[in-house]
Amino acid sequence: MKSLPIFIKLTNRPVLVVGGGDVALRKIDMLLKANAKITVISSKLCKKLHQYHGQKKINVKLKAFDKNDLTQMTLVVAATNSKKVNSLVSKTAKDLNIPVNVVDEPSLCTFTMGSIIDRSPLLIAISSEGNAPVLAKFVREKIETLIPHSFAKLALVMGSMREVIKKRHHTIQSRRIFWEGFIDHPLVRQFLNQTKKLSGQQLITLAKKSKIQKNHGEVFLVGGGPGNPDLLTFRALHLMQRADVCLYDKLISKDVLNLVRRDAELIYVGKERDRHTMPQEKINHLLVKLAKKGMRVLRLKGGDPFIFGRGGEEIEMLMDHKIPFQVVPGISAANGVASYAGIPLTHRDYAQSCTFVTGHMKNEYLTLDWESLAKPSQTIVVYMGLLALPTISSELIAHGAKKNLPIAVVEQGTTSDQKVVTGTLFNIIRKVEVKKLKTPSLIIIGNVVKLRKKLNWFN
Ligand code: SAH
Repeated sequence: MKSLPIFIKLTNRPVLVVGGGDVALRKIDMLLKANAKITVISSKLCKKLHQYHGQKKINVKLKAFDKNDLTQMTLVVAATNSKKVNSLVSKTAKDLNIPVNVVDEPSLCTFTMGSIIDRSPLLIAISSEGNAPVLAKFVREKIETLIPHSFAKLALVMGSMREVIKKRHHTIQSRRIFWEGFIDHPLVRQFLNQTKKLSGQQLITLAKKSKIQKNHGEVFLVGGGPGNPDLLTFRALHLMQRADVCLYDKLISKDVLNLVRRDAELIYVGKERDRHTMPQEKINHLLVKLAKKGMRVLRLKGGDPFIFGRGGEEIEMLMDHKIPFQVVPGISAANGVASYAGIPLTHRDYAQSCTFVTGHMKNEYLTLDWESLAKPSQTIVVYMGLLALPTISSELIAHGAKKNLPIAVVEQGTTSDQKVVTGTLFNIIRKVEVKKLKTPSLIIIGNVVKLRKKLNWFN
C-alpha cells in the first residue's frame, strides 16, 4: 500500500484549482459536493465555470499561477494542459507540504481522489494508486450496482441515532452487536434490498424499538468450497464477515481465509493426514467452549461440511449442548474440481451415476465395495485417495474394471495451482509419480474423464 485512504473534511476550507477547462470542472464539481471554498486560477474559463462564478459558487482569479497563490490552501489541484505549469504547481505545493493532485499525472501527486461511490453519508472510494484508473472505475461500477441508494438513507438514520444508542449501550462491543442486529432485522434487510419502502421516521422507530439480542453465542458451520474464493456462497461470505472467532482447516486456502472478518481471531485446527493438529474431539469441545462464551464461532471447512467433513459430528455435539448453529453448504471438491478440470461427473453416454468414496486408509487397508465400484457406466470420485492410488487401481482391475479405464488425478483443483494428470488404471501411478502430485488431490475414475480432452477450459 503506497497511499493511505483518508476522508478529509473540506467544508469552508480553502482549496485551489489551477486550470479552468473541462478537466478542472470535473474536479471542481467533486470539491463543491464536499463544500470546499474553491479558488480557480486560470487565464480562461469554460462555460460552466463562468456560470459557477456568476452564481458565486467559486472565486476566480484570471491570471497565471504563482507561488503566493498557495498561501493558506488546504489542498491544491492542478488541471491545466501545460505540463510545465502542472509541474510547477506540484513542486511548489510539495515544498510547502500542501497536498497536491495533478490530474492524470500520478508522479506529480501527493494525493488522489479515487473513484467515488457517493451514498452520503456513506462513501466508498476506490484507488489503483495511479496504476489503472480504468480498472478502479470498473470496480466502482460493480459496487454501484451492489449498494442501492437506500444505504444512504439508512446511514443517515443510523447517524442520527448514534448518541441515543450510545447512552443505551455503553461498550463499543455492545453497540456493534446492537447495530449488526439492527442491520440484520428482516425489515431493514428488505429496505436495503429495495423490496420494502420505509420512511426515515419508520427506520428511527425500528431502531428505537430494537433490542440487543442476548448473545448466547452460536456456531456457523460453513463450507468454504474447494479453494477458489469465487466459489464461496453469498451466505458463507456473509457469516465469515460476522464471526468473532474462526476455526479453520488445512484445506482452507489463503485467499478464502483473507475474507474472514479482519478482527476475528483465527485458530488453525489443522487436519493433515495422520497429523491432526487438533483431534476432532478437541475441536468439538472448543466449538462448544467458545460459543458458551457468547462468541459467534465460524467453523470454516474445505468444500462442503457434510461431505467427508465430519460436520455431522460437530453439530451433534452442539445440539447436545443446546448451542444454536447453522450450516452453510459449500461446493464440494467433487463438483468444483471436476468442473475446473473439464470433466462432467455424469454423461448420457458414459456414466449414469456417480459415487463419492473416501480413500483414507485405516492401518494401510482400504475397505470399499470394490465389486460394485468396478461396474461400468459410472463415475467414482475418491477423496483423500492419493496415497491409496495403487490399491485403488489394482483392486478395481482385480474386480473386473478395464485396465484402460480413464482416470484423472487433480491437485489443488479450482485454484491457479491446479494440476491435472490423466491416464488409465494401469499407468496412472507412474504418471502421478512423475508429476509429483501432492495433497489435496482428488481422483476421478470413469469414461467421463475422456471428455476432458474436448472440454478442458481452465488453465
Ligand atoms: N469436505 C470436503 C472434503 C474433505 S476431505 C469437500 O467437500 O470437498 C479432503 C479431500 O478433499 C482431499 O484429500 C482431497 O481429496 C479433496 N479436495 C478438497 N479440496 C480439493 C482441491 N481443491 N483439489 C483437489 N482435491 C481436493
